[in-house]
Amino acid sequence: MPKKRKNRGRHKGDKGKEPLVHCDNCGKLVPRSKAVRVTVPYSPVPADLARELEKQGAIIPRYYVTKTYCINCAIFLGIIKVRPEDERKKKAPLTKSAPVRSNVAAVPPVAKPAQAQQPVQSSSQGTQSQ
Ligand SMILES: [Zn+2]
Repeated sequence: MPKKRKNRGRHKGDKGKEPLVHCDNCGKLVPRSKAVRVTVPYSPVPADLARELEKQGAIIPRYYVTKTYCINCAIFLGIIKVRPEDERKKKAPLTKSAPVRSNVAAVPPVAKPAQAQQPVQSSSQGTQSQ
């Protein structure tokens, strides 16, 4: 029988049965090896407010939340993508995490001078008001 994917869409091998987990988005029951797990940083403070507070020196904790999604929801949310037929048999890691990290690594050198300049402006405004 032809296989659509080398691992049949799962990574359980010839293990047999596996526990089911709930999708965090829709609640569907999915085999654990078929589910897509994503760890994302979560902050109770909105991003804009957090940036302003960090400029003023506040330390805002970041919590990492691991979410489990079914395949439908993972595709809908853009975590994984539908691949062309010849690429399906290659083993591909979650493609979203790798490019995001490289972008994040590229961004801070640009962002750091901007952050360094802004406190200088705020301190000069502080001296003018005094
Ligand atoms: Zn789902």
